Amino acid sequence: MKDLLKHKGLRNQLVQILRDKGIKDVLVLEAISKIPRHLFMDSSFVDFAYKDKAFPIGAEQTISQPYTVAFQTELLQVKANDKILEIGTGSGYQTAVLVALNAIVYSIERQKELYIKTKSFLPKLGYVAKKLIFGDGYLGLPEIAPFDGIIVTAGAPFVPKPLLAQLKIGGRLVIPVGDKTQVMTLFIRKSEKEFEKQEFDAFSFVPFLKDVSK
Ligand code: SAH
Repeated sequence: MKDLLKHKGLRNQLVQILRDKGIKDVLVLEAISKIPRHLFMDSSFVDFAYKDKAFPIGAEQTISQPYTVAFQTELLQVKANDKILEIGTGSGYQTAVLVALNAIVYSIERQKELYIKTKSFLPKLGYVAKKLIFGDGYLGLPEIAPFDGIIVTAGAPFVPKPLLAQLKIGGRLVIPVGDKTQVMTLFIRKSEKEFEKQEFDAFSFVPFLKDVSK
């Protein structure tokens, strides 16, 4: 499947929708205008790729809504060469946005099928993460920590302590917290022991699951 002028046009319309919804970060909007989201979805959904909606990607998971991706990425305030941990690789679309921002990206996925698919797919598009990991995001990645930013792309019933512990001072954790719907929450590490917490709107995510063997 190809990336055609028609797709580029649809992406520009999507970017305008995101602007209208309040996304301001020019670099985030630029990344979304470049990345061929339709290639991250099953072919039957191509016509929907540039609607501002989440869609199924197999293994009962979804590719996040573009607005959600943009909102979370904006909160993360990624700078070039930042070391970023993503939890929930899924289709790899959010991963590609982070790579487009020149971050050094580590991403963890617990569904083997998605991990394998995305690991072979992303490099073909030219979006190369530093490392994709099959494992349990609740543990973070202690061997690579500390991170400038951590982004959780599944709905968390609570904030896992290891993720807070793996932030640099000044680092940011963006995590949707809640059961049925989730409040987008930002933690900024102020010192070894202090975290500033900010809460934003409610979103709806697939669950951040604890048991890897399930
Ligand atoms: N960022 C993805 C969103 C995928 S949905 C995208 O843009 O497509 C959330 C993903 O989190 C799913 O793929 C799900 O399998 C994964 N996930 C859920 N619990 C997890 C855990 N404990 N560790 C790692 N990934 C997890």
